[in-house]
Amino acid sequence: MGEWRRWMPRRIGQASWLLVLLAAMSASGDNRAGSTSSATPPNIVIFFADDLGYGDLGSFGHPYIRTPNIDTLAANGQRWTDFYVAAPVCSPSRAALLTGRLPVRSGLYGNTIRVYFPDEPGGLPQSEVTLAEALRDSGYATGMFGKWHLGDAPRALPTRHGFDEWIGVPYSNDMNWVGEPDFEDLVKLSMRGNAAEQAAVYARSGAKYANPKAEDFAAPLLFSQATDEGFSDRVEQPTDQTLLTQRATDAAVDFIQRSASGPFFLYMPYSMPHTPLFRSDAFAGHSLGGRYGDVVEEIDASVGAIHDAIEAAGVLDNTLIVFTSDNGPWLFMREEGGVAGLLRNGKGTTFEGGVRVPTVFYWPGTVKPEVVSDIGSATDLFSTVMALVGVDAPSATDALDLSPRLLGDGASPRTEMPYYRGGTLYAYRKGPWKMHFITEGAYGLPPERLQHEVPALYHLRRDPAERFDVAAQYPEVVADIQAAVTAHRAGLTIAPPLFDARLAAIAAEVQRQAARATSPANDQ
Ligand code: MG
Repeated sequence: MGEWRRWMPRRIGQASWLLVLLAAMSASGDNRAGSTSSATPPNIVIFFADDLGYGDLGSFGHPYIRTPNIDTLAANGQRWTDFYVAAPVCSPSRAALLTGRLPVRSGLYGNTIRVYFPDEPGGLPQSEVTLAEALRDSGYATGMFGKWHLGDAPRALPTRHGFDEWIGVPYSNDMNWVGEPDFEDLVKLSMRGNAAEQAAVYARSGAKYANPKAEDFAAPLLFSQATDEGFSDRVEQPTDQTLLTQRATDAAVDFIQRSASGPFFLYMPYSMPHTPLFRSDAFAGHSLGGRYGDVVEEIDASVGAIHDAIEAAGVLDNTLIVFTSDNGPWLFMREEGGVAGLLRNGKGTTFEGGVRVPTVFYWPGTVKPEVVSDIGSATDLFSTVMALVGVDAPSATDALDLSPRLLGDGASPRTEMPYYRGGTLYAYRKGPWKMHFITEGAYGLPPERLQHEVPALYHLRRDPAERFDVAAQYPEVVADIQAAVTAHRAGLTIAPPLFDARLAAIAAEVQRQAARATSPANDQ
């Protein structure tokens, strides 16, 4: 790996990568053509489950959900106990993974609209540099098979942001409600203060989540490719959600077989186990853990199939595999949602259960097998991957390079962790200590929002479930974290929330409709 790092320039295209390789070989007289594992940069595979809780894998303590494939990666790689995402909900979490920047810095968050919804006029800005772009510009084939959730306008799609090819749902699998108001209509109901109708919609759709039927959800599956002429996009809608995991797996295996001459970047953001839960016939009743268990076990089988495809292609020893999740379990979904294990609360919150995710790194012969309790973040994957590839990544402002810990050369450089909900800093971790300034349950769930007059302090190693506030006993720790927060804020300009940008247009339409309804012309 160190060999090619010396002559690998930044941002070269796939064709020029080959020219550089040939030039380097002839200049040095060192024929590396046959020894791909030392001459080819590592392949990168990132599995990103949706709403999978900290306690939902066998290797993270679930007694009934069986995940032998992921557990094998964990046993032969690094199982990270203290790995986080940048936000407790989908879109900002995904934005941070792909850009290496905090959502509050990039603007990829909302204070009112928490994630992107269908017919989004904006989406991931062109000014952002994604991990896929950085790798593609370094000569990688880039494939993505799964959920995007960073805007569904054509210019926002993955193929416009560095992926050569993509098959997947552009947002969450529950966002095309059949027979219900769409997102903008729901916002209008809320703006008009029509509480009774809103409650009726939520009650009806809640029942549909609890007993998922194909006809109640009409998610689109997009097939998108970057071509020499531009882009080619095709939509299949409604798609059969029972086949989402299987089809993503098949597409990934095909991509690996086509790309094995390497290097390749495979991004697998599964649409599951986000509700409504769907699995293929082969996994119905597969798990002791009910429908949720079935769905997770199908994801595990997918990870196994993709691992086997990499091995069959002969490149397993030159491939970094990462498995993690985009946020904690959606507790509102009760038995259809997962669990955060011993961690407190879940998705949507800045308690540990919302943002600490089950994470595994695997690279046989390179990542030193052990259980790691250093702090890491999905935001760090950008710099970590680029360091392993050997390319500088100056745009990834908030990403720290975890490669020293992965390679067994040192500690994780991340010793602090900010916890944002929307654009507001709710909590901050330094070392084993975590301090909450604001605590709040997920949408519709307790506890109610509380701005703490004296921040609450927990020692996460002695008290991982955040049960015992010890702020009064450790005033010096409280002061130290407050100083760390001041330094964090000083290094950050909070961008306006991009997800909320469409609110103004919806509000204007509500006003126009109200004006029409009360105008004299209406009486005629
Ligand atoms: Mg999610």
